[in-house]
Amino acid sequence: MARKDPLHFLNVPRQMPRTTPASLRIQEFKEITGQYDRDQASEQAARCIDCGNPYCEWECPVHNYIPHWLRLVEDGRLFEAAELSHKTNSLPEMCGRICPQDRLCEGACTLNDGYGAVTIGSVEKYITDEAFKQGWRPTVDAEPSGKQVAVIGAGPAGLACADVLIRHGVQPVVFDRYAEIGGLLTFGIPPFKLEKDVVRTRRAVMEEMGVQFVLNTEIGSDVSMEKLLADYDAVFMGMGTYQAVTGGFPGESLPNVHPALDYLIGNIRQVEGWAQQGPGYIDLKDKRVVVLGAGDTAMDCNRTAIRQGAASVTCVHRRGEGQLRGSRKEYKNAREEGVKFLFNRQPVAIVEADGKAVGVRFMRTRLTTDGDGQTRIEQVEDSEEVIDADAVVVAFGFRPQPAEWFKANRITVHEDGRVLAAPRGPFYMQTSNPQIFAGGDMVRGADLVVTAVYEGRQAAMGIIEYLGLGRIELPGQQLD
Ligand code: FAD
Ligand code: SF4
Repeated sequence: MARKDPLHFLNVPRQMPRTTPASLRIQEFKEITGQYDRDQASEQAARCIDCGNPYCEWECPVHNYIPHWLRLVEDGRLFEAAELSHKTNSLPEMCGRICPQDRLCEGACTLNDGYGAVTIGSVEKYITDEAFKQGWRPTVDAEPSGKQVAVIGAGPAGLACADVLIRHGVQPVVFDRYAEIGGLLTFGIPPFKLEKDVVRTRRAVMEEMGVQFVLNTEIGSDVSMEKLLADYDAVFMGMGTYQAVTGGFPGESLPNVHPALDYLIGNIRQVEGWAQQGPGYIDLKDKRVVVLGAGDTAMDCNRTAIRQGAASVTCVHRRGEGQLRGSRKEYKNAREEGVKFLFNRQPVAIVEADGKAVGVRFMRTRLTTDGDGQTRIEQVEDSEEVIDADAVVVAFGFRPQPAEWFKANRITVHEDGRVLAAPRGPFYMQTSNPQIFAGGDMVRGADLVVTAVYEGRQAAMGIIEYLGLGRIELPGQQLD
């Protein structure tokens, strides 16, 4: 089909799929961005000017073939677009929804320079959602090799590893301690960013492909690592990073001071109607809520509290507005939904009365530059202030927590607890125990879904070679 007018991008502005207005979306836990129809997807995809030097592909951690699948969508060739999209990404419908596109693919789009970037994430999501709806499934045509791999963790890293293994004739058996797959996609990220049906659909597709899931099973207590090593040809660990970072100030253990993930998981279980195992539901209706931190997790807590009907939600960050760690898109969504932000404030204590938190004490901060050009944050003298609070949510991030069985299984970790795995081989992502591979947050530290997918795929390449099945080079897996 002939290309549309090369100046199409001037006549057709960047247009996201319909987004629910803030006043309505805060009343529900549904995804806030809708879906293109076929014509809208084609119109938006056609805005790509095929600039010849696709910076978008380079900024995308899995190096998706973006201009190529945009062209296929423009031409209405949906199944071919889905096939191509899955060549580089095992979970494109998730990444299309929750990648911070503004600092990855879309941030690098040539049109971002004044014309509005191509809506890459929304088109990526459209391709897989729509192709699945119309019956398309990823191709699995490799001869079974007779090899079996145990995958610990059904998060993005484990799922991506399993996806590549099954497509290359290796049987993955994925173990997870939770009752559903997805890792933080299911038990962390709220449904207004990613509805859980999307994860359920991916599970059904992977099961059809032949991936086996063994859920409600914790490695280390229900099944030992030693047993996995005896029963399987190799093991992949994609166990994430779950040790919450604390502020180290007085009052953090008060009953109405909540760790972010406990708060989010309790709410997801409530919304989905799942049995409350582990942390219970924390209802912040009518409460004055203070959220400490300003990454993706903090934004999710802010927006969850708003939807629960909090009286007010104030998010406090020790740096300035320009140094937010999370996605700008989520910051904008939070502001639209009524979250108040206080920048350049460092919490120094939770204020206590009658055994409960009643406020947070802060010092103002400023950014200073050392002689060697390094910036650091310093507290401003005599700048103490207190904000009243009925509940405090602490969202300072997560660090890896090595399991006590690592040592006995010769798994070496960095000083900060991250598992040591070799990104460049000789077998990609192999740990210090040759039979064990690892990837995702437990290797990188808390990061992104798309980087966990990258490392899960990289590890699968290493495992396939380790099993003597030959060296494969997956598209998009270039080492940077
Ligand atoms: P996880 O997703 O953590 O999966 C690990 C899995 O291993 C879990 O299912 C766990 O149950 C299982 N497991 C652990 N130990 C065992 C064991 N011993 N036995 C059996 N199973 C075990 N990233 C984005 O790109 N965009 C976002 O918008 C975004 N928002 C986020 C919001 C929140 C609240 C959080 C916490 C993170 C967010 N992230 C986001 C980060 C992203 O979710 C993670 O980087 C990603 O999920 C890491 O994938 P993973 O597979 O390494 O680990
Ligand atoms: Fe962009 Fe993420 Fe998709 Fe890559 S995976 S094209 S960075 S949305």
